[in-house]
Amino acid sequence: MANSRDMGNPQQGMSEQQYLAQLKSTFMQMPNDIPLYMFVQKGKEDMFVQANRQIVRAFRELTNKIAFKEFSLDHELAKKWNVTHSPTLLVAPERFSIRWLGAPLGEEGRTFLETLLLVGMNQSHLNEEARKVLRKIDSPRDVKVFVSPTCPYCPQQALNGVQAAVEMPDMINLEIVDIQCNPDLAEKYSAHSVPQTYANDILVGQGAQSQEIFCLSLQKLEPQSVFIPDVDAELVENDLVIVGGGPAGLTAGIYAVRSGLNSAIVEREALGGQVATTPIVENYTGFTQVGGKTLVDIMVSHALQYTTIFQGEEVLDIQPGDPVVVQTSRRKFHTRAVLLATGAVHRHLGVPGEKRLSGKGVSYCSTCDGPIFVGKKVIMVGGGNSAVTEALHLHHMGVDVTLVHRRDKLRAQDYLIQNLKDAGIPVLWNTEVQEIRGENKVQEVLLLNNQTDETSTLATDGVFMAIGYSPAVELAQKLGLQLTPDGFIKHDRHRTGIPGIYTAGDVEGGYKQIVTAAGQGAEASMVLFEDLLNPYWMQKKEAS
Ligand code: NAP
Repeated sequence: MANSRDMGNPQQGMSEQQYLAQLKSTFMQMPNDIPLYMFVQKGKEDMFVQANRQIVRAFRELTNKIAFKEFSLDHELAKKWNVTHSPTLLVAPERFSIRWLGAPLGEEGRTFLETLLLVGMNQSHLNEEARKVLRKIDSPRDVKVFVSPTCPYCPQQALNGVQAAVEMPDMINLEIVDIQCNPDLAEKYSAHSVPQTYANDILVGQGAQSQEIFCLSLQKLEPQSVFIPDVDAELVENDLVIVGGGPAGLTAGIYAVRSGLNSAIVEREALGGQVATTPIVENYTGFTQVGGKTLVDIMVSHALQYTTIFQGEEVLDIQPGDPVVVQTSRRKFHTRAVLLATGAVHRHLGVPGEKRLSGKGVSYCSTCDGPIFVGKKVIMVGGGNSAVTEALHLHHMGVDVTLVHRRDKLRAQDYLIQNLKDAGIPVLWNTEVQEIRGENKVQEVLLLNNQTDETSTLATDGVFMAIGYSPAVELAQKLGLQLTPDGFIKHDRHRTGIPGIYTAGDVEGGYKQIVTAAGQGAEASMVLFEDLLNPYWMQKKEAS
């Protein structure tokens, strides 16, 4: 059977009906039943309680292996399993220590499905390297992964926790904490951005981690950023490795496979790149208005009809040649071409307090972290399309947001500016954030009016930033590729200058729209397909 991480989406060439049929059959073959126990405080029938009932009902339509029982929070079983929050959903508590505090809503639905499959199969599906690290843990770890339903990075991290808990049931006690349902816990842990992971009350991860890094962070009880595998990786031979699973990479995958190239996409973070965290997209042809994550899901399903996607895996090194050798954190590819579609990373302000309070009120993702600030006061820094789109998103969510822009004119499209005015969102013009202050969480910002040189403080619960992106050129630099003066990969029709190495999307510059990134991906695949049939580097050799 496929890895449970692959089961959250329909597989290659599969319709939705076929996917559901496969799920049913997978559930049927599972050796174990899955008891689910929900604990609810008497008289507290909130939306999370109702959501749990609905979600469980939907899954029980797929399988009779799920047994569901409800208990009051003062039931003796609550004491036995130390349940204190309402609602809490326990998954097979006699065998594992896995619980949801809240409900697996939105993005977490995927995690929940994968949890049911892993628990039913009694298999963690962790890779061997991660497993080896986990086995070194010799005392229990109480793990809390804070998530929100709209966070596209959260399922990966929550699933890491589930896999660890299934692999080491005696050592890993997992709580997946929905911050919207549990603001008290979010406050206690100063978890003001998601995903955020604690083990034995120590912060071990901000953001989504790979399986190996997650396990290493649990073992060491401090956040890790580097994992070096100590065995020879699996070898895969194919025609094309695409680095990056945003619109450029996904589209390139579709075009490459349709041309007959055996291709794989490798993405270290969430699929979809920046689009995954864009609240609403209104200018991608064919969609008048679509949520960024919904658009990503559609693109990923489409890409999976053709190409393999290795998500949560990092490309560590690329050695050009024939074959090109690509070393990832899990395997080695011998391939004919590599397409760098590594996108861009969000910029930082670089002011005092920003780094220290990151995740504690400083946020770069309104889609992920917005729900924590409902009813609270925040600022959004920036004046481009992203800042305005995200300020509108926060406003509509019920957050009291003020836009802070360093000039007297916005860079955003007129249409968005009009929406901003219509929503009545206040704007502080000619204003720069000089410092972000607060002890354990953001409390105020120091502002400078760059026209009058006056400084002032503004009390705020959060500082959101959307001040543009820098191209992600780490691998390109390692390869010694030339960059433009603006820092993008220099290219000629997506050819980088090194035979077999190509580029597409935001990392090569251009208009940085979803539709143009997808176009760049398609074009790059067609160029490299033609080159592989008729290599330009061989022609050059023959000519000389
Ligand atoms: P952007 O267009 O580069 O805008 C960045 C904004 O941040 C600018 O207003 C800039 O101010 C401000 N800024 C930059 N550095 C700053 C600093 N150190 N301190 C304070 N402010 C700073 O970035 P973006 O809005 O993320 O958009 C990126 C790309 O994606 C663009 O091509 C955009 O069109 C596209 N996009 C499109 C849509 C859409 O079409 N709906 C949505 C999102 C993004 P100045 O104006 O003074 O330079």
